[in-house]
Amino acid sequence: MPAPTAVRGDITAQRVDAVVNAANRAMRGGGGVDGAIHRMGGPAILDDCIARFPQGLATGDAGWTTAGALPARWVIHVVGPNHAAGERDRALLVSCYRRALEVADRLGARSIAFPLISAGIYGWPKPDAVDAAVATIAAADTAVTDARIVAFDEATFDLVAERIARL
Ligand code: ADP
Repeated sequence: MPAPTAVRGDITAQRVDAVVNAANRAMRGGGGVDGAIHRMGGPAILDDCIARFPQGLATGDAGWTTAGALPARWVIHVVGPNHAAGERDRALLVSCYRRALEVADRLGARSIAFPLISAGIYGWPKPDAVDAAVATIAAADTAVTDARIVAFDEATFDLVAERIARL
């Protein structure tokens, strides 16, 4: 696909077909991006998580729900590896981006906004989290034409933009 773009802002405000949630295995809400998505999207997202994912989701996997009141049509939930808790298998982080794009293709989504998966509460080292995001999205075989990596702060935005410039 074309190179991803770097965006600075709040992922819940993105006007895209699908926003990606950095969820946890239980899929019942949490902090960071997960908290913001459930707060802004409203209870329909949690209801759909419970109905569609009674057992939650495995680390490295992706699954979709409604986006509730968000401007997007779908939320694609992924579970990144929890580096802070000792999950250090990089293939699981790469898998989150690949699987999210596969789910997007199945839905017919053409635009998607990713957070920097695992780089917050889960503690994945920021430069490597950026590298995994940019390289995996850029190499994916997908019908998605607009993939954004949304950074909350200026320093992270700069890291993402610099990595994209090196593609
Ligand atoms: P994880 O638990 O997978 O580490 P987090 O949600 O804690 O996920 O953080 C992932 C990244 O998203 C971090 O870089 C964090 O600063 C950023 N982030 C947190 N809230 C938002 C938001 N509302 N929009 C965009 N990025 C966010």
